[in-house]
Amino acid sequence: MTERNKQVTELKELGEFQLIEALTKDVKIYHKSTIKGVGDDAAIIDAGDKAMVVTTDMLMEGIHFSLVYTPLMHLGYKAAIVNFSDVYAMNAKPKQMVVSIAVSGKFTLEALQDFYAGLRLACDTYQVDLVGGDTTSSLTGMAISITVIGEVEKNKITYRNGAKINDLICVTGDLGAAYLGLQVLEREKQLFEQNKNFQPKLDGYDYVLHRQLKPEARKDLIDFLEEKNIVPTSMIDISDGLSSELLHLCSQSNLGCKVFQHKIPVGDKAELVAAELNLEPLICALNGGEDYELLFTVPLVDYEKIMKNTEISVIGHMVDTSEGRYMITEADTAIELRAQGWNAYGG
Ligand code: ADP
Ligand code: MG
Repeated sequence: MTERNKQVTELKELGEFQLIEALTKDVKIYHKSTIKGVGDDAAIIDAGDKAMVVTTDMLMEGIHFSLVYTPLMHLGYKAAIVNFSDVYAMNAKPKQMVVSIAVSGKFTLEALQDFYAGLRLACDTYQVDLVGGDTTSSLTGMAISITVIGEVEKNKITYRNGAKINDLICVTGDLGAAYLGLQVLEREKQLFEQNKNFQPKLDGYDYVLHRQLKPEARKDLIDFLEEKNIVPTSMIDISDGLSSELLHLCSQSNLGCKVFQHKIPVGDKAELVAAELNLEPLICALNGGEDYELLFTVPLVDYEKIMKNTEISVIGHMVDTSEGRYMITEADTAIELRAQGWNAYGG
């Protein structure tokens, strides 16, 4: 039978990006109003004077979150934030949101109201209107799909592919803490599963837990860029770790990069937790996930303006593609950057 000869490819043989590429490579675009389709943090649609930005993210119980340690209010907040972050990564501002949920019989009205309290708090904080969604049932667990629509002036749209040689590579905030927060929660969860009377010890981990459970999106950077009249040449949000996002900027801009280990922002609090967990803080910054900081490039002429913002670190610069993609360590060795971010299929 022909069925038997058909080639089958297990999803675990592919990375997430190879899968998306395989699924979307034959997609046709019919409308001039589709300015940017698949391939960036959000799609861009012509909306007359301005451009509209659309992004969507799905969160699955057991894959992206565990209700053992994620309060539903935090989950609602985070589910909104991850989408806002993708909108900011286009240098745009989020305006509307639609929310779809699938829930099983184990959830109560009160639990779902907590989830919505988190969504509302995020909408209040970031001034976004919740305008619709869909509600359905699931056999097991909870699934959440959120779509956010944003707005940007056409001359300010920032893609992943616009970086130029010698542009400065900049990053907001600090990196690695969200991953460390997840490690702390996973450790306590395992202890709890072995002994249900176990009381989790979470004192002293406030910062890393906050970064994991209640992240923020960098609206402040977009406001700062607007105020200082800076349009980055490229930008991406850091959801999968610095390495993987830098490689996206490089490959989409057809360039290489040189970043310096001692410039990569790892906060003191993350360093303390990393030491306790026997993890290398730099590796958490490079390969951990869910920091939701913004990684962007600007021309050298913007250096002085950028330096005025203490939330921004300049970590290196873009180079010709022939020079490769490297991190220079404190001992002055060059290490090739590799993508070791999240892989939802466990490959
Ligand atoms: P991010 O991490 O910024 O949310 P993703 O890695 O999820 O971005 O997606 C990269 C690009 O691929 C985006 O343009 C996204 O819209 C697109 N994409 C992801 N999954 C699919 C899919 N199943 N079908 C079509 N496009 C997709
Ligand atoms: Mg993104």
